[in-house]
Amino acid sequence: MNSFKRHMWLVLIAYCIVGLIYPPIGIVAVACMLAPVVTGPFMGRKWCNSFCPRGSFNDVMLKRVTLNKGIPRLFKATAFKVIFLIVLMSLFAMQLTLAWGDWGAVGLVFVRMVLITTVIDIMLGIYYHQRTWCAFCPMGTMGGWAFKLKNRIKRRLQGRESLATMLRKEG
Ligand code: SF4
Repeated sequence: MNSFKRHMWLVLIAYCIVGLIYPPIGIVAVACMLAPVVTGPFMGRKWCNSFCPRGSFNDVMLKRVTLNKGIPRLFKATAFKVIFLIVLMSLFAMQLTLAWGDWGAVGLVFVRMVLITTVIDIMLGIYYHQRTWCAFCPMGTMGGWAFKLKNRIKRRLQGRESLATMLRKEG
């Protein structure tokens, strides 16, 4: 375990405490939300494995207390991931729309979401497996899709390139 991963969980705890005291700071969560999606095409799940504060919290703290029953298959199913992503993002977008224009209220939307998802993460992590949340985390899911999409495009381009080279040689 690298030193980033050993300590990044402190960022999650600090965020929750400071976010409750000073809600506008909650907006910084945008960085952590976008990171797995933006880095996904280039680094795959590197963000999740090494830098994500919640991933670190799961692997450093929850790992010590989990009953380790394994992640239920339901949480790994694509349909479940898609439905959860749509529901969570819709609720999030609705709250953001209502809060828009007031930075304190906008920050509080982020803080509330992080707190609620952290409680879900802890409950599932203790009962099933420390990384249960990560099996269907919307941001991790989108990062994984971005990585797969990039690979698919790359393979297609390579296929076209080798076909063109072959045709050139034959012609
Ligand atoms: S799946 Fe989500 S919570 Fe888990 S490490 Fe990746 S971004 Fe973080």
